Amino acid sequence: MILDKFSLKGKVAIVTGSNTGLGQGISKAYVEAGAKVVGVSRRPSDETAAICGSNFYNVIADLSDNSAIPAIIEKTLEKFGNIDILVNNAGVIKRQDSLEFSEENWDSVLNVNLKTVFFLTQAVAKQFIKQGTGGKIINIASMLSYQGGIRVPSYTASKSAIKGLTMTLSNEWAKYGINVNAIAPGYMATNNTEQLRQDGERGADILARIPAGRWGTPGDLQGAAVFLASEAADYVNGFTLAVDGGWLGR
Ligand code: NAP
Repeated sequence: MILDKFSLKGKVAIVTGSNTGLGQGISKAYVEAGAKVVGVSRRPSDETAAICGSNFYNVIADLSDNSAIPAIIEKTLEKFGNIDILVNNAGVIKRQDSLEFSEENWDSVLNVNLKTVFFLTQAVAKQFIKQGTGGKIINIASMLSYQGGIRVPSYTASKSAIKGLTMTLSNEWAKYGINVNAIAPGYMATNNTEQLRQDGERGADILARIPAGRWGTPGDLQGAAVFLASEAADYVNGFTLAVDGGWLGR
């Protein structure tokens, strides 16, 4: 039956940035859909664990470099035996005028948002191939995968690259039954956008431009995240799905 194809029963998912915001919402949705979730976060995901219960397991890791990747894979396999889904959600944004933009603000964003995403994805894809099961990879992109943004050059570079990376990995791995897709959230009310929402004029400009007339919430992303992780998306490859209240269509 069609709704069975959306179930994640028996699946094991790794979700990065699970302690808050969109990663917390995705972890909750996956557990509700029947999956076991390994939430990766640099601070404890205690709130997410309390929401999700015993099907959630927290691995503490700083994703600013690749050194944490082997332990993430090992701990997931030790706890739940295999891996079926990876959500590359952890991300950072640094705001500064491009004329002054520092190398630190460039490297810190590119490392978390792109370099670690690539190498964690590579490690998980190798595990999928070893298991012979295929799998689902979901990258969290952005409106700035399509647009330029203002004062966020490293973030825009990283998120535009994520959209391209999603396509290239999909081209190489679809033959293994691995679906690589992305979700581009619109303007969502999380820590990531707190500074923007505090900025009266800019916050009001953004809100006025969203056809849905409101900022998004972590709950708004859950349907797309479950769909792309499920059998219902078996023939969806390399696509970036916007969940944006109509922002891109405007
Ligand atoms: P958020 O609340 O700031 O969450 C970001 C997550 O990434 C947090 O869990 C954060 O951990 C984690 N993280 C950052 N650096 C890390 C590191 N070095 N190692 C491990 N974890 C790290 O923002 P969010 O909105 O939920 O963002 C989730 C994703 O959606 C990001 O990729 C973001 O770029 C993307 N996105 C957000 C929006 C939006 O409007 N909110 C729009 C488009 C795309 P800490 O809590 O410890 O910092």
